[in-house]
Amino acid sequence: MGWVRDHTGRFNRRPYYQQSFLDRKCERLICEFLQSLYGQVTIPVPNGALIKLVERDARDLNLYAQLPDGVLGVTYFDPPRKPQVRIARSLFEDSRRLHRLRFTLAHEYAHVVLHAPLYLKLGSAAREDHQCTVTQIEPLAAVDWMEWQASYAAGALLMPLSRLRALVNACCPSRPGSPPASGESLANNLQQRASEAFLVSTDAARVRLTQLGYLSPLRSQ
Ligand SMILES: [Zn+2]
Repeated sequence: MGWVRDHTGRFNRRPYYQQSFLDRKCERLICEFLQSLYGQVTIPVPNGALIKLVERDARDLNLYAQLPDGVLGVTYFDPPRKPQVRIARSLFEDSRRLHRLRFTLAHEYAHVVLHAPLYLKLGSAAREDHQCTVTQIEPLAAVDWMEWQASYAAGALLMPLSRLRALVNACCPSRPGSPPASGESLANNLQQRASEAFLVSTDAARVRLTQLGYLSPLRSQ
C-alpha cells in the first residue's frame, strides 16, 4: 500500500492498494469472520454473514432504504462516528436480485473498512453521503478510485483468492492459473462455475477472473 495525490479532491492524498494487498486483506478478513461465526469457512459466503459483517463495523445498516433510481447502496461517512450503510429496498425484497444484493453488501462493506478511516482523519467537516450506482458497482476499467477499490475488495471478499484459484485449477487442470484462458467456451465455463460456487453474477465472476489474469479482457465492441 502507498499514498498518491487524490485528483477527486476529497483528500490531499489517498491510499493506493495493490491488488495482491487487497486480496490478502479481504481473504483474511472474511475467513476469520466466517470462522468466528460458524467455526468454519463457508463458501459461498452466507447472506447472513455479509449482513453481520456490515453490522459489526458500521453504526447502522438499513436494508430497506428508499434510494434514488439507479442507486444500489449508500455509505454515509459521518466522522467521528462510524459510517451508516443503506441498501436499496428493491435488492432485499426481490429474490431475482440476490447476486446484486450480495455484491452491494460486500461493496458497501469495503467502503466501511477501507475508506471510513480516511474520513475519520479529516474530522466532522468531511461528512459525505457516498452513493453507489449500478454502473459503478462492478467496474473493470478505471473509475473513481473509491469505487474501484470497493468493487475490487467486494469481489475479493465474495471470491477469496485461494478459493478462486482452486476453482480455476479444477476447471482447467492443464493450465493451473496462467496463461489466461482463451476460447469462448472455456471462458464461459469458468465464469459459470465461479458464479455457482460463489453465488455471484457471471458478470462479477468475469470481472474478478479478468482482474486476476485468468481471463482475457473482453474486446470493446
Ligand atoms: Zn461505492
